[in-house]
Amino acid sequence: MATRVLLTGGAGYIGSHTYVALCEAGYECIVLDNFSNAAHGVPDVLEKITGAPVQLVEGDVLDRGCLDHIFHAHHIDAVIHFAALKSVGESIANPLAYMQCNIGGLVTLMQAMKAAGVYHLVFSSSASVYGNPEALPVPETAPLSYASPYGYTKLACEQIIAQAGAADPKWAVGVLRYFNPVGAHPSGLIGEDPKDVPNNLMPYIAKVAAGELPQLSVFGNDYPTQDGTGVRDYIHVCDLAAGHVLSLKSLLEENAGHLVNLGTGQGYSVLELLDAYSKACGRDLPYQIVERRPGDPAASFADPQRARDVLGFQASHSLDEMCASSWHWINTGAQKPG
Ligand code: NAD
Ligand code: UDP
Repeated sequence: MATRVLLTGGAGYIGSHTYVALCEAGYECIVLDNFSNAAHGVPDVLEKITGAPVQLVEGDVLDRGCLDHIFHAHHIDAVIHFAALKSVGESIANPLAYMQCNIGGLVTLMQAMKAAGVYHLVFSSSASVYGNPEALPVPETAPLSYASPYGYTKLACEQIIAQAGAADPKWAVGVLRYFNPVGAHPSGLIGEDPKDVPNNLMPYIAKVAAGELPQLSVFGNDYPTQDGTGVRDYIHVCDLAAGHVLSLKSLLEENAGHLVNLGTGQGYSVLELLDAYSKACGRDLPYQIVERRPGDPAASFADPQRARDVLGFQASHSLDEMCASSWHWINTGAQKPG
């Protein structure tokens, strides 16, 4: 029988790409999503890509009854917990909603898992737990902090996972600290499609390329970086999805947890990304330099060695491939899940 995995937030950006990668690797997946940040058409599109019907539960990870029902109705071997709110700006405006969904969601899920005797969990953490990194590249042992309520929830969740593990050695949790996921599936059928004006760089540039926004505002050009603009570790979402498959495999085989960065180890500046995207879409994209965005570190990129050693993970897509896949997704807009 195939290993069965529950994906909370499986209709979202990273969850949907991981769903495809898991199906390709032979796992059976069940998606739980409340569609607060995903189109209702995503499951149909996932069916189209994988050629198999999607097992979907429309529900909330804060709903313990719903979780218990899933664990009773199906034999679940492991859970990948993507479901969370993820906008830094929104978290500053409404911190309690972030505490409830991100921290409350994890606690409710882990309680339901424990009650069902399921102890294998992959958790979506973030490079935001490094705050403003002191040294580059950033190893997992770097000091931890946060610059927003969103970042706080990710750090708190990591600590909750550590405490649950200390109290009960049955837990085997893969904590994955994502750097900057970008790009889209090669089919052009799934990708990142923010409903509002995007906060993140690549989706913002994509909307400029599509003519939906007039120009990019570059937040500061006086950082101590190669060209003065902020530097980040952009990782193709399909590489990230592959990292989840490796994490899950390791948890199930080793019965032990891990905590790793998922990044490429390579930092690119805002202007380098803009150049690469201009190449992908075939025209120079307009921009203006504006003030720094408060709380932004100058540079952040991963030390990817531990993920290589522990999981055998290595990102393979170039920056040009990340931009080309994003542009392909934007260009196939007519087929976007509604
Ligand atoms: P996303 O918003 O596209 O996906 C999250 C999904 O969870 C959405 O489909 C949403 O509808 C669902 N969801 C939200 N709250 C829910 C709830 N209470 N119950 C059920 N479903 C719920 O975001 P994403 O970019 O795919 O991020 C996935 C995870 O990765 C999140 O935990 C996020 O914090 C983390 N992460 C994302 C990034 C990034 O840049 N995208 C970086 C680091 C970490
Ligand atoms: N950035 C920018 N203009 C934008 C959005 C982002 O100049 O409209 C910069 C931002 O200052 C940072 C980089 O792009 O240096 C990546 O920002 P993003 O929000 O995508 O990721 P994060 O800062 O969360 O790592």
